Amino acid sequence: MHTSSGTTSKPVASFYSARDLENWSNLTARNLVAIGARKGDIFLNTSSQGVFTGGLGYIQGAQMVGLMVVPLGSASPEKQLEYMRDFGVTVFHAVPSFALRLAETARRLGVAGELKLRLAILGAETWTEAMRSKIEEALGLEAFNNYGFAEACGPGVAVECRVREGLHVWEDHFLLEVVDPKTGEQVGVEEEGELVVTPLTREAMPLLRYRTGDIAKLLDVKSCDCGRTHRKISWIKGRVDDMVKVRGVGLYPSAVERIVASKKECNGHYLIVVRNLDELSLQVEVEDSAVKDSEQLKRLKEQLEKELKKATMLRFNVNLLPPGTLPRSTGKTKRIIDERTWQPHRET
Ligand SMILES: [Zn+2]
Repeated sequence: MHTSSGTTSKPVASFYSARDLENWSNLTARNLVAIGARKGDIFLNTSSQGVFTGGLGYIQGAQMVGLMVVPLGSASPEKQLEYMRDFGVTVFHAVPSFALRLAETARRLGVAGELKLRLAILGAETWTEAMRSKIEEALGLEAFNNYGFAEACGPGVAVECRVREGLHVWEDHFLLEVVDPKTGEQVGVEEEGELVVTPLTREAMPLLRYRTGDIAKLLDVKSCDCGRTHRKISWIKGRVDDMVKVRGVGLYPSAVERIVASKKECNGHYLIVVRNLDELSLQVEVEDSAVKDSEQLKRLKEQLEKELKKATMLRFNVNLLPPGTLPRSTGKTKRIIDERTWQPHRET
């Protein structure tokens, strides 16, 4: 058994038969091969082999491909980098926010040049292309997105191939639909909606048309240069329940993240706070190098507020913070805090 990470509430348990485990190993093995990992690569998993599916799930797949496995699991970024350097790690798996911490730490310690990293497989959180660029640049590797959830098996539902235009769904194991979260009706290709997944091979825990709560779209792609014929989905835009309504407008943290990640003065850590009367603030950390230049900070604050208004139709009050101010976590990072005691716009 495994459990979900409990993104929205109490974790959900997931159960596996022997054949389910075998199928799951095959799926994470396919993920690793799709991004370009091969026999002889040295694979470090930053996820522990506990109840989180990203732990054992990827270790089983990596062994099947013939990678050498370093099952370090949960440890400080400094310790992860030490293992990566000492054992010549070439591929790692992490949640994106932790990969960003690795990138920051590598830059701070100046050790990126001593690493042999070439690939990272990241997922289980909503992240963006801009965050990917930051991670790739700091660690000198290619990072790929993958999608899954504990109730389906864990990672192994969909993965980016080396073409990097969307994620292939492993359609021989999962039937995927996209529906309007309000009506449950299917929406068209290239239209955003909630992913609904029916596992086709699960034995111990069959599900029918499972509402994932994840927002994405089916892409209008007939064929892919990688040769795979499975349909593709977009990156996950957010969760149905991540979206908060502020002054009647739906706000997804990913819209804010794209803007924060595009600023070289920001280190990628931010927190959105919604207060009473729908007051909206963005707390965002800046890089060490930007802290002392008050002119630069003033300009940055103005730019952020302007771009946020344009992208979200909402007015933000931006607070710039020194690096390391916001809480860090090794699991999933909370990007939005809703402190409103009275929420007239919220739909439940
Ligand atoms: Zn492809």
